[in-house]
Amino acid sequence: MTTWHNGIITKIEDASPTTRRFWLEVEGVERFDFKAGQFITMDLPIGERRNQRWRSYSIASAPPFGEGVTSSHALAIAPNQLELCIVHLEGGLASGYLFNEVNIGTSIKFKGPDGSFVLPETIENELVMVCTGTGVAPFRSMIWDIFHRNIPHKGIHLIFGTRTADGILYQKEFEELAEKMPGFRYSVALSREEKEGLHHGYVHGIYQKEYAVKRPDRTFYLCGWTKMVDEAVAKLIVEMGYERGQVKYELYG
Ligand SMILES: Cc1cc2nc3c(=O)[nH]c(=O)nc-3n(C[C@H](O)[C@H](O)[C@H](O)COP(=O)(O)OP(=O)(O)OC[C@H]3O[C@@H](n4cnc5c(N)ncnc54)[C@H](O)[C@@H]3O)c2cc1C
Repeated sequence: MTTWHNGIITKIEDASPTTRRFWLEVEGVERFDFKAGQFITMDLPIGERRNQRWRSYSIASAPPFGEGVTSSHALAIAPNQLELCIVHLEGGLASGYLFNEVNIGTSIKFKGPDGSFVLPETIENELVMVCTGTGVAPFRSMIWDIFHRNIPHKGIHLIFGTRTADGILYQKEFEELAEKMPGFRYSVALSREEKEGLHHGYVHGIYQKEYAVKRPDRTFYLCGWTKMVDEAVAKLIVEMGYERGQVKYELYG
């Protein structure tokens, strides 16, 4: 049976000219458990029929963690709060509502957590996470979860792509994390702007170069809009020869 929850918006921050971070406090619970990489589905007042009203959003914050994590090593968020990272699409009904109608204190009905775009219990492969825009959300959750719980891993490479530098999400945070989290690397690709230290072009150019030599103990995780994900799946499997099982993805639409 589906459980519906009520969330209250407690904070909203701009993350880029078109993207906002929304913090949602889940009413009536002390902690809201989920697996890093999962999403929630909101029922928004934007249509008559439920398939017109429902939209899914990946949880961008990490799952609640136990005692023993010092605050300098943790994402500061209460155990009954979630962070979402949402882009305003031109003409988009849900994102338009979230950007124009939602304020601090707005109540939002949602169900979840759902989804199987999660990491295995034991991480035995090197992880290459490829995303554009808000597709970074599930990876932010996974990376912080690994860091909080000190989960052994074989190397994590986050490859984030956007058009211009003002679209980079969580840049400072990932740069700092790359310094304090052993085995974590962070690359940014800008497709429409050249900037020193950042790759000029699409995300594909980065993994095509760095992972041209195949290894069976490597898994690619892809997240974002269909065009990027479809292109990456084709490049990895058809052109580069990776096995289907080495490529996992979450499609936003
Ligand atoms: C599992 C899952 C997780 C998701 N997580 C997130 C998330 O964390 N953050 C997030 O921002 N979104 C996420 N999405 C997408 C989200 O559910 C909505 O689809 C998105 O917010 C657009 O809804 P909308 O009502 O604003 O647009 P709609 O009204 O549904 O879309 C119509 C408008 O959007 C435009 N549009 C449609 N697709 C695209 C596209 N691919 N690129 C550009 N424009 C397009 C169309 O031109 C049209 O104008 C996720 C989707 C899924 C399935």
